Amino acid sequence: MRAMQLDPRGGPLQVVLRDIRKPASGEVLLRVLACGVCRTDLHIVDGDLPRLATPAIPGHEIVAEVIEAGAGVEQFRPGARVGVPWLGWTCGACGYCRSGRENLCDSARFTGYHLDGGYAEFTLADSSYCFPLPEGYSPAEAAPLLCAGLIGHRALSAAGDAQRIGIYGFGAAAHIVAQVARHQGRRLFAFTRPGDASARRFALELGAAWAGDSDAPPPEPLDAAILFAPVGALVPAALRAVAKGGTVVCAGIHMSDIPAFPYEILWGERRVVSVANLTRRDGEEFLALAPKVPVKTRVETFPLERANEALARLREGRIEGAAVLVMDREARA
Ligand SMILES: [Zn+2]
Ligand SMILES: [Zn+2]
Repeated sequence: MRAMQLDPRGGPLQVVLRDIRKPASGEVLLRVLACGVCRTDLHIVDGDLPRLATPAIPGHEIVAEVIEAGAGVEQFRPGARVGVPWLGWTCGACGYCRSGRENLCDSARFTGYHLDGGYAEFTLADSSYCFPLPEGYSPAEAAPLLCAGLIGHRALSAAGDAQRIGIYGFGAAAHIVAQVARHQGRRLFAFTRPGDASARRFALELGAAWAGDSDAPPPEPLDAAILFAPVGALVPAALRAVAKGGTVVCAGIHMSDIPAFPYEILWGERRVVSVANLTRRDGEEFLALAPKVPVKTRVETFPLERANEALARLREGRIEGAAVLVMDREARA
């Protein structure tokens, strides 16, 4: 099979040929139909996350068809369409796993990082961490639901019942959160890169009440802000934008350093929290909610071999919605 592989020393992904392995007990062998390109992939490729010793195949927003089920797999049969998210394995025994917080598991393994991911024609996954997918989405349209959607959902939940929500960084996750937040009757304020007129227009199209530059204050105080942009300087900016009692949710896996800020912008019971990974419950909740909204994803598709180009476009902020790799013609949106 063809795969896009990251060398442990870094550099662009390389096209490689790998053997297709048989599924072990509990695993499914999957033919990848589409795989989303997430900002976390960029952090892995760019070395913002610790580099691992072995070559990795990125990709953790996998839409795939089950080809073969290993021993003991009950829930998926060959031919079933499944989604594979970032959370690929947890120990089930640590304090976090035993208290409903498997997203924080001390020995969690993540798809497309510790485990080979979906930038490939085939992959293996632990069937206990795969999701059935809602009807009505093409593989390319469903792919962004699996991380941008799940993490966005977890971030929106962390914002509590905030009515006025600011979103910093209007990419794949934000364009899904915007639709869910509007569906829930909340008001949305979009902060985009200074001067990025097309991102502002995209946010307004998706129902934002206001869209402006990330270095400008919102027209009224907010109840919560969610940061998808990996820019630490936005944390104090967001604290200044939220009213007393407001929450600032940092939703990315990596962020540049947060500059020092005066205590007075945190005082008044403002909170800064982070959202890490996902639980399988997040996945079940969000994948049930998405078709009810209904969430419509905007995707830009690339063939597998052009993964580096998709990553470069994401790095430059030149993707509207989500970038998705598609493996063959019938999988295209
Ligand atoms: Zn654990
Ligand atoms: Zn992701």
